Amino acid sequence: MTVTKRKIALVGVGSVGMGCAYSILNQGLTDELALIDVAGDKADGEARDLMDGVTFAPENCKVYHGDYSDCKDAQMVVITAGVAQKPGQTRLELVGVNSKIMRTIVKDVMASGFDGNLVIVSNPVDVLTYVAWEESGLPKNRVIGTGTSLDSTRLRMQLSNKTGVDPHDISAYIVGEHGDSEQPLWSQATIGGKPLMDWIADGDEGVIKKEDLEDIRKNVRDAAYYIIDRKKMTNWGIGLSTARVVRAILEDEHAILPVSAYFNGEYGLNDIFTGIPTIVGENGVERIVEMRITDEEKAGLHKSAAELKEVLDSVRNN
Ligand code: NAD
Repeated sequence: MTVTKRKIALVGVGSVGMGCAYSILNQGLTDELALIDVAGDKADGEARDLMDGVTFAPENCKVYHGDYSDCKDAQMVVITAGVAQKPGQTRLELVGVNSKIMRTIVKDVMASGFDGNLVIVSNPVDVLTYVAWEESGLPKNRVIGTGTSLDSTRLRMQLSNKTGVDPHDISAYIVGEHGDSEQPLWSQATIGGKPLMDWIADGDEGVIKKEDLEDIRKNVRDAAYYIIDRKKMTNWGIGLSTARVVRAILEDEHAILPVSAYFNGEYGLNDIFTGIPTIVGENGVERIVEMRITDEEKAGLHKSAAELKEVLDSVRNN
């Protein structure tokens, strides 16, 4: 019997990187986790600290301070390195510095001989996923951004708070930019299998009304600003969202997740990475799921994609 060891290299051990590492370890998703960062001592300290807790994790895992040569035989490299938003700053404002950081990291990852799936978390995630794909030379399906995974789980929580229904029984997606121009797909949201719009139309126990939707949309869109104002960064939600994507890939789940995927004509969009419900498995993106969204939702998705394209062009032409 051949036993394949699962190995992940994680680049960037700041708040987000460690949120991801902690979730990955705590869920027993890998046998080996190499932590890479320009701040070598920090990576070393974080690795030792996590190793102290391994006996309490569901499975054994070797966590260590690694370097780019560790990417060679990794099934996956997760990149969280880069500058984070300061209070009041948008994600798109990070693009200049973070796209340069992303290119240098991806060059080093690929120089190792890496041939697995690349998962991008750093912001602006949709633009940086494109940059990472371009720099890597990997097939489009093997480069995935966390996209609107976090935004969509925030939407499910908001709908749960409003209706009192378990968020696990709610299916709802945000698409487009992981950022200010994101678009909720109200027409596709279901609560316990019943469309959200039917809940509203039926006035089910008066729990949710059409006029609540705008508040919910704003709460989801502005969630990161709220958190960053209070704790200077966000990390636990994105750590858990990333672990969800990691699991879907390593376990070949074919789960439908709203990740940042490459568009090749789907929804009338081309040559862009942005958040969209996607079937995710061991090949990364298996395929984008095309839903029958409304014209208004499609227009919102196109507007978001157009904004991303403009920002992407600004860093590609530099
Ligand atoms: P942080 O400042 O705490 O950590 C960034 C880390 O990157 C640091 O340890 C730094 O040493 C490292 N780094 C910088 N340049 C590097 C390089 N060239 N090579 C290797 N390592 C390098 O920031 P954070 O709070 O962890 O945020 C990281 C990124 O994640 C930001 O871009 C942030 O906006 C993004 N983020 C994304 C999401 C999402 O949903 N996709 C959510 C939250 C944050």
